[in-house]
Amino acid sequence: MRLLQSCAELQAWRRNCGTSPLHFVPTMGALHAGHQSLIRRACHSGGGPAAQVLVSVFVNPLQFGPSEDFSRYPRQLERDAELAAAAGAHALFAPGVEELYPGGPEELTRLQPPRSLQQGLCGRHRPGHFDGVATVVLRLLGLIRPQRMLLGEKDWQQLVILQRVVHDLGVPVEVLGCPTLREADGLALSSRNRYLDGEQRRQAAALPASLRAAAAQVVGGGNRDLAALAAAVRTHLEQAGLVVDYVEAVCPRSLQPRSALTGLTLLAAAAHCGPSRLIDHVFLMSRAPIVAIDGPAGAGKSTVTRAFAERLGLIYLDTGAMYRAVTWLVQQSGVDAADAAAVAPLLQGLDLELSTAAAGSQRVRVNGTDVTDAIRSPEVTAQVSAVAAHSCVREALTRQQQAMGERGGLVAEGRDIGTAVFPDAELKVFLTATVAERARRRALDLEQRGFPVPPLAELEAQIAERDHLDSTRAVAPLTQAADAVELITDGLSIEAVIEQLVQLFRQRVPHDAWPEPAA
Ligand code: C5P
Repeated sequence: MRLLQSCAELQAWRRNCGTSPLHFVPTMGALHAGHQSLIRRACHSGGGPAAQVLVSVFVNPLQFGPSEDFSRYPRQLERDAELAAAAGAHALFAPGVEELYPGGPEELTRLQPPRSLQQGLCGRHRPGHFDGVATVVLRLLGLIRPQRMLLGEKDWQQLVILQRVVHDLGVPVEVLGCPTLREADGLALSSRNRYLDGEQRRQAAALPASLRAAAAQVVGGGNRDLAALAAAVRTHLEQAGLVVDYVEAVCPRSLQPRSALTGLTLLAAAAHCGPSRLIDHVFLMSRAPIVAIDGPAGAGKSTVTRAFAERLGLIYLDTGAMYRAVTWLVQQSGVDAADAAAVAPLLQGLDLELSTAAAGSQRVRVNGTDVTDAIRSPEVTAQVSAVAAHSCVREALTRQQQAMGERGGLVAEGRDIGTAVFPDAELKVFLTATVAERARRRALDLEQRGFPVPPLAELEAQIAERDHLDSTRAVAPLTQAADAVELITDGLSIEAVIEQLVQLFRQRVPHDAWPEPAA
């Protein structure tokens, strides 16, 4: 690992990186396992070419208030270099104040992130802090020009503000939030924990404990009174001997105060414990997250949704398989698929069972019969849209899907998930591709399943017909929800689509709210 202490050295190293992507982890040093986990994540390039990882260590005077701990903030460059190298960093940039701010404070171009994001939480208690953070980070981004910057979710307000600043100024860098690392008793790792003596360290555990207790009360639609929850956290902290700066419930994106529990809510607290000012937060959710993936036939939804579900530890729900299973039953019963009155009785006491098999695939049973393979036949495919158009069928299956999603923690794919089944899903994606591309994929799928493959033109016509039926039916037609993100998958690899889904999910649901399962 290279140690770079001047801007000139940085530029020389930067030139040697060639075309490798550059991932950047800004820090104030005093590195710990939390920083190392950021560095390890920075080393993962998500399927792309291997990245070069640069860590900066700079105790930025601009972000400390006059009575704060700038002069005693721990400085340990040699140890930081060892820890950064052990985590896989390729370079450590550790400039002095003069190097980064030549000319001193009077000559400095400063940034001021939106006031709305600084009015609450730490912004209110540390005036000028986020101006200082934004100023130094944009200065570093300008020098380093990385493709990606990784920040801890622990400093949530900082993460939101920097994402906003980068967006508003059009800085071409992707800002990724990373999970908070914690000690065994829940205390979030922080360089400031080292100021604590034994007794203070024990007191500090009240911060995560009080927040977790609040989150537990909300699960399953329990206590939704945010003011009462915040007051309980405050009391808990004071009883533990901490001096509370704030306990606030806000929208995680706008950071505006929330009075009611609608969607994901950030409950954040800051308290002084002896010489340290500690911050922490939890996300309050009445249910686990839901992802809705809609789109026309053959857009590749099943493959990517299954892999995405596995990656994020979500239950995978293929609702198309449910409509196919009913269609199979209709055909077995010799009933006219177009006749709603004849189809309706089959729904009485229908036992449609979905279970997850190996590799995240879904097995389907209808009234006790395993139809997992049978529902993929061209015969079922030809009639499924007609069956799915009946309002009795839609009502029965929508009800079952909503019951399955009651506690959340699932990703459902279909045609009407974001519009009719889970209109309050945290993430809605409309996955699509051109008809030609979808016909090509369908041909491949049929071949792999051992069915005869019709000519491409015929498949295109079938797909266009199914699109037409699905999007013109009276009940819950296939349409893109107003708040869905459209993802056109022509020319994208499966890996690339999954990667985009994960990123979209993470823009809405932080790691701290829904961690990824351990690999
Ligand atoms: O996704 P798949 O091709 O298996 O879906 C089969 C059919 O089931 C669709 O063409 C559509 O008619 C119907 N469907 C639906 N609503 C859903 C999922 C599927 O109408 N949520």
